[in-house]
Amino acid sequence: MKIKLVLLGIFFLSSCTTFKINYPACVFPDHSPFPGGVINKIIKISSAEISNVKAEQKSVYLCQVDQDHWKVLVPISLSSEIKPIVILNKDKTLLKVPIFYKEYSESKITINNTDLVSPPAEYLPRIKKESELGKAALSVVSNSYHSALKMSLPLEGLKSSEFGVRRFINNEPRNRHTALDIAAVVGTKIMSPLSGKVLLVGNFYYRGKTVFLDHGGGMISTYSHLSEISVREGQLIKKNEVIGEVGQTGRVTGPHLHWQIALFSVPIDPELFLEQAF
Ligand SMILES: [Zn+2]
Repeated sequence: MKIKLVLLGIFFLSSCTTFKINYPACVFPDHSPFPGGVINKIIKISSAEISNVKAEQKSVYLCQVDQDHWKVLVPISLSSEIKPIVILNKDKTLLKVPIFYKEYSESKITINNTDLVSPPAEYLPRIKKESELGKAALSVVSNSYHSALKMSLPLEGLKSSEFGVRRFINNEPRNRHTALDIAAVVGTKIMSPLSGKVLLVGNFYYRGKTVFLDHGGGMISTYSHLSEISVREGQLIKKNEVIGEVGQTGRVTGPHLHWQIALFSVPIDPELFLEQAF
């Protein structure tokens, strides 16, 4: 009997080591608690409860670090108020994260030709349709995710407009700049900074020729003003695979890539995701 128990004990111990779970590294952008940034914190929660986790009634991006701890990534909108963001498990507070003000630069330009400031009326139905198509693409949450979200730079070029810039035309405030602009000569190859799937390609009034990539779990990146698109919808793309070339299609003043990253439809600063500072 004693021998049997010992054998049972050995079997139990060995089966525990056999079924040991390897958790992923979960490499998220640094905690950047300001509008346009991200919350990166660890929460204690069981696997069964993860679908209950919300921040301001919105979904969060999760990665399991051990049996009952998950890394949580929450996008912070540029229009977010400067007040703590509460992360909830149903109605139980898991975390209250303070948010800080960040100064973004301003860009003021004067344009005398009013036709260039507002698009001609005949383009409005097209612009509305494209805006809806873009919004729908950014809101896609597919059932896969990356545990490591560090990205390579999509091309070699010069930073021509930072994320978050407050833009004014003829002293009228316009939409904030929700992307990072990288200037380069027409034809410069653009590489996918992370693997993903081509969600949408098109030639848009404002964005010009654009590729939307789905990286899974609610993370979408977009590449605009291209001269050439070298991928098709539904195609799986590896990290550093060429997806197109720099151009000046759409509403632009010169050739550049307008690179946007959105998590659950909220655009956040692409520079936070870079493996190496740009
Ligand atoms: Zn831009």
